[in-house]
Amino acid sequence: MNWFERMKSGLRTIKKRELPDGVWIKCDGCGELLYQKGLEKNLRVCPKCDHHFRISSKEYINILVDEGSFQETNAEMTSIDPLKFRDIKRYTDRLKDHIKRTGQNSAIQTGVGEINGHPLALGVMNFSFIGGSMGSVVGEKVVRLINTAIDRRIPLVIVSTSGGARMQEGAISLMQMAKTSANLFRLSQHGLLYISVLVNPCTAGVLASFASLGDVIIAEPKTLIRFSGPRVTKETTGQEMPPGFQPAEVVLEHGFLDMVVHRKDLKSTLTNLIELLT
Ligand SMILES: [Zn+2]
Repeated sequence: MNWFERMKSGLRTIKKRELPDGVWIKCDGCGELLYQKGLEKNLRVCPKCDHHFRISSKEYINILVDEGSFQETNAEMTSIDPLKFRDIKRYTDRLKDHIKRTGQNSAIQTGVGEINGHPLALGVMNFSFIGGSMGSVVGEKVVRLINTAIDRRIPLVIVSTSGGARMQEGAISLMQMAKTSANLFRLSQHGLLYISVLVNPCTAGVLASFASLGDVIIAEPKTLIRFSGPRVTKETTGQEMPPGFQPAEVVLEHGFLDMVVHRKDLKSTLTNLIELLT
C-alpha cells in the first residue's frame, strides 16, 4: 500500500518517536532503558540489575586513583608491524584506526598514582583497543610497570580485560606471556604485593599470564573468565558449555578467584588490601 492509498483508506503513519542519540541506553542485563547521565553517575552500573557496563581504562583510572595523582608512563609507545600482517585490513591501518578511536597508542595505560594516599603502580587495559589484545607493547609496558613497582617499592595493581594474545604479532605476542610472568616472579622475590583485577571479559593469553598471577585476584560481578570460547572448549573437551560460561561467581566457587567486588567498592577494597598486606 503506497502513501496515496493509505491516505484514502484513512490509515495514518505514526511518526516513530525518536530518542536523541546518546541520551538513553538499553541495559544488556535487564533490557531497561537507562538515562546515560544517571548511568555515568552510577559508575556505569545498571541501577536496576547491577549489570556492569564496559568502561575505558581512563574511567577506571578516574574511579581508582586519587584525583590528580595519576602520572602516566610510556603513553607514546606503540606497536610496529614486524610480520607485515594483513587480515581483512593491514595491521598498520588497524592500529591507526584504534589510535584515532581511543586516543591511546596501545591496549594498556600504565603509570603511578595514589589510592587513598597510598602510592601504587597501576596498569589498566582498554578492551576498545583491538579487543584488549596483548602484543609486544602491552607486554613491554607491563614489564616496565613491574620495574617501577620494584624501584619504588610500591604495590602493583593491574586491571585486565582482554580477548587474548594479538594474532597480528604472532609468536611475539605469545612470548609476552612468558616475559610478564617471569618479571612478576621478580616482583614477588622483592616481597612486593601484586593485586590483579579482572573485568569483563578476561580471557586467553592475558588470563593465562599476568592476570592470573596476582597475590590477590579479584573480579567485577559476572566478568567472563575463561581461557577459550565455548566452541574451542567444546572441540577440546567434547562437552557443551552452558550459555555465558563462565562468570566470575562460578570461578570464585572453584577457588581461582579471591573475591567478586562491585565497581563502587573497588577503590575501598584495593585500599584495604594494600593497608593489610604491605
Ligand atoms: Zn539492567
